Amino acid sequence: MPKPMLNKPAKSVANLAISWQQQLTQAITDPEALLLALKLKAEDFSDYSAARQTFGLKVPLAYISKMQAGNPRDPLLLQVLTQAQEMVTSAGYAKDPVADLDASKTPGLLHKYHGRVLLITTAACAVHCRYCFRRHFPYQTQQAGRDQWLQSINYIRQDNSIKEVILSGGDPLMLSDEKLDVLITQLEAIPHISRLRIHSRLPVVLPDRITDRLVQRLASSRFNVCMVIHANHASEITETEIKALKKLQLAGIQLLNQAVLLNGINQQVNEQIDLSENLYNAGVLPYYLHLLDPVQGAAHFDVKLDRALSLIKQMRSKLPGFLVPKLVREIAGEAGKIPANEL
Ligand code: SF4
Repeated sequence: MPKPMLNKPAKSVANLAISWQQQLTQAITDPEALLLALKLKAEDFSDYSAARQTFGLKVPLAYISKMQAGNPRDPLLLQVLTQAQEMVTSAGYAKDPVADLDASKTPGLLHKYHGRVLLITTAACAVHCRYCFRRHFPYQTQQAGRDQWLQSINYIRQDNSIKEVILSGGDPLMLSDEKLDVLITQLEAIPHISRLRIHSRLPVVLPDRITDRLVQRLASSRFNVCMVIHANHASEITETEIKALKKLQLAGIQLLNQAVLLNGINQQVNEQIDLSENLYNAGVLPYYLHLLDPVQGAAHFDVKLDRALSLIKQMRSKLPGFLVPKLVREIAGEAGKIPANEL
């Protein structure tokens, strides 16, 4: 394995004085361009061309600016770089590992758990995470685009056991502030909904997405609003992300994080401790640490259960309880996420 060269972060690739939408149009989609920006050589990596055909590379410059130039093992780079291992077929790994499609009630509405439903608001993400459990999801038929919202809204209206709506995707913050406003307004008109949860990786990979207009809209909602961000490594949370997240915190939005335990990225105890500390500095509580969902193409990221349990035990000895995330696995058909110590 090549020895990491500990150079400065790749700040020079970012031009962040533009809108979040413009930053998205500048996202890198070519692995060679990504490696060039980080002063890395293609020959230091496996052949990434086939994996790129099945699930394209996509990464915004704001995220690249947090990677370490010259380091082929950078934990942010390895989350997004297409790799040959993704083409390996592994036993026990599936295209729909958590049975999302069995829970689909209308196009783009998943109803798995009591009291809450999840809306697939868009297929789009700002970044393509290689371990994504929805990397094979059939978004073309399973998306609550504006035209299908009405079906989903009707479903929610007719079931008064539903108290919470989760906006997911893809990434719901890929929708414009205007579209989000329309959707949230429609949901607010349903009396039995009291909580709105937004699952998003954008505060981490494109923090300029946290616009003042978005913050004001969420703050003025009649809902208790919770945003569950997705950060896996302490290097993902810098001063820029802290500033964006603090705006949400000051507006009264509950902030939680869900991470995925990933081999080669964040399986060391010091990495998890640093992540929890950085999250708390940003006003975010570590909520879930997910064991990898067994999705085809991601087996090389798996961390075995005994190792994961030992990691959590070590975290408990070094952190206050509120900074230790719950280690869980989603199992299709279960009534909720399963704590890892019950597996
Ligand atoms: S942002 Fe979330 S939904 Fe999008 S690719 Fe990453 S893990 Fe998957």
